[in-house]
Amino acid sequence: MTEHILVIIKPDGMLKGHAGHVLARFEETDLLLVGGRVVKVTRELAETHYAHLKDKPFFAELIRFLMGELHNNQDMVLALIFSGEDAVKKGRAIAGATNPELAEPHSIRGSLGRVTTKGVFENVIHVSSDALEGEREIKLWFSPDEVAREIFPSKLVAGRKAWL
Ligand code: UDP
Ligand code: MG
Repeated sequence: MTEHILVIIKPDGMLKGHAGHVLARFEETDLLLVGGRVVKVTRELAETHYAHLKDKPFFAELIRFLMGELHNNQDMVLALIFSGEDAVKKGRAIAGATNPELAEPHSIRGSLGRVTTKGVFENVIHVSSDALEGEREIKLWFSPDEVAREIFPSKLVAGRKAWL
């Protein structure tokens, strides 16, 4: 089934210069890049993106991580949309397990991630974990005009496209 995933090069990956490497890994698959933008991560965006984790003990630190506060205030991330057959499975395989210490050594997280002394997983990239999450996240990070394919229905509102 064709799926759409949001991939984010997180602040640690941006600061350490891993964006090109991540892009190259995804280009080795048959997934299609249909959107990309550099985004300044506000607190509101970070908290909405990770809203389902708000009761976790690591939530506050995770929000600081995504806002770049653990990485020299690197508050710009690269957000990408990939589309294609089994995009979730392929994207999550490239990423590796959430915990970099448990991730397959050749995966992005296994080779480039680390666990901080505060217990935050600095794991270089975000990849949507299922198709529904992918849709929610893509609609949060992108407007329809910023996506080069009609992956989800949109409508015209006051002369601009909005997600349905
Ligand atoms: N995270 C963490 N400690 C944990 C679990 C998660 O720091 O014990 C962070 C990590 O950066 C992870 C993010 O929270 O990528 C979102 O967690 P999720 O369980 O959704 O993992 P993912 O889908 O990113 O693999
Ligand atoms: Mg997740």
